[in-house]
Amino acid sequence: MKNFTKLIQFKSSIRNEFNKAHKFFCPDFFIIKKKILLFMIFLFHIISCSNEDVFFEGALVIENIGVIDPIYGLEENMSVVIKEGRILDIFKTSEISISKKNKVYNGSDKFLIPGLWDAHIHFAFEKDFATFMPNLFIYHGITSLRDTGGEFDFVNKFKQEAINNPRAKSRVKIAGPLIDGKFNVYDGKNIYYPKLSVQNIDNKELIQNVEFLIEKNVDFLKAYEMLSPGQFKILSNLAKENNLKLTGHVPLSMDVIEASNLGLNSLEHLRNLELSMTKQSEGLSEERKDLLKNKSGLEGSELRSLIHSMQRMRSINDLDSVKIKNVIDVLIKNNVWQIPTLTLYQNISKKLYKNSDYLEFLNLLPKQKKMEWIKRINSINSDINQKAVDYGLWQKKMVGYMHKKGISFMAGTDTPIGFLIPGLSLHHEIEELHESGLPVLEAIQSATTNPAKYFNLENSLGRIKSGFVADLIILAKNPIEDISNTKSILAVIKEGNLMDRTYLDSLISK
Ligand SMILES: [Zn+2]
Repeated sequence: MKNFTKLIQFKSSIRNEFNKAHKFFCPDFFIIKKKILLFMIFLFHIISCSNEDVFFEGALVIENIGVIDPIYGLEENMSVVIKEGRILDIFKTSEISISKKNKVYNGSDKFLIPGLWDAHIHFAFEKDFATFMPNLFIYHGITSLRDTGGEFDFVNKFKQEAINNPRAKSRVKIAGPLIDGKFNVYDGKNIYYPKLSVQNIDNKELIQNVEFLIEKNVDFLKAYEMLSPGQFKILSNLAKENNLKLTGHVPLSMDVIEASNLGLNSLEHLRNLELSMTKQSEGLSEERKDLLKNKSGLEGSELRSLIHSMQRMRSINDLDSVKIKNVIDVLIKNNVWQIPTLTLYQNISKKLYKNSDYLEFLNLLPKQKKMEWIKRINSINSDINQKAVDYGLWQKKMVGYMHKKGISFMAGTDTPIGFLIPGLSLHHEIEELHESGLPVLEAIQSATTNPAKYFNLENSLGRIKSGFVADLIILAKNPIEDISNTKSILAVIKEGNLMDRTYLDSLISK
């Protein structure tokens, strides 16, 4: 790769040598002669520049744009050269004169950010909606996805489609199904509990199911809430042996410190964290052990809801600052990522989906899906449960506190659960994280550099740097001034393929 910044430096070093030589041969008293010589140097420079207009063959040059790298922040008036799916070079637009032959996008008054990740989605939650979800993700600039639970064959289809169409579809990382215990929660009995999980009656079954997923090359594994401590231990060992990250909800049979020390290295929705942060944690733990025997033979989802309703608010209302500190210290020590999915709980607890502006968002959905969601939304009463709202507020406070302590976050939503619109909800999540205490750049990092790092892709994805994958978004407005400007999308670039507004609109027209 030819380095054009070096070319500029080379040109100026030649100029310096020329000046030195000139000073030596032309003493100062020949003033006029010097002026003529300077004029000649000037002329030489103009001619040489016009001769050196640079042509980037087969490339796209975005000229004069405000580049927002998630680590360095904004640099104005930059040119970004994209070739063969990668960022070839970045330089000040004024530094290099480019040939008229180049394919150029005028980036004046516009901003460039990396393509975004939604680190918590479920293709398998509404299977009849799944085939439309990729369009909504691209439409909203979500160029990478982390599917956190669904039957392997179903979610793998989306992963493979993205591998086969890297310039049109968002890349997909998959966990396969949630790995649950004997009383599994997402067993497929109704639309609220579709089959997202795999039941594991005993250890033997768990080993078989997990080894199957490892053989199928899943990208990470996800532990669910009804696992026994023994099952969780086997799962975390298998994950470690195979170099796979283990995410999940803290199993109700365990304490977050125990789960984290065994290898739970990311935590979704802050789920069950509060149970280890309350003054009553020991008593609640004993109570759960008894409840988990499931003497009245409840379904997995009923048993889990019962435990949440019995223990969540008791924990939140009786927190213990020392225990909170102990939990956070362990999470920091073990580098446990947090995917708090704040938007999900805000939406559910405040029933935001009933507001008129939310109904406007539903226009992004295919007509039939929109009608179906409206019907379901209308069937839900408008009463607000203050306890649920309080819990949502606690989550945001906890995110702010964890951030101050140095915990790392990934932006994720849980879409399409909770009527969250694929793609749009990720922008709302970035706003929620910012509102909870993450400075703008760190909120952007939560959807760019952080998920890239989680998947060991930090040297090729999530930044605007030479050599990085050209997954980018061109914005009309500056997100550093107002984080909600991440939604002002003019074009999305996936592995070098620029999809303009007209194309993006065509993705959702029905
Ligand atoms: Zn989820």
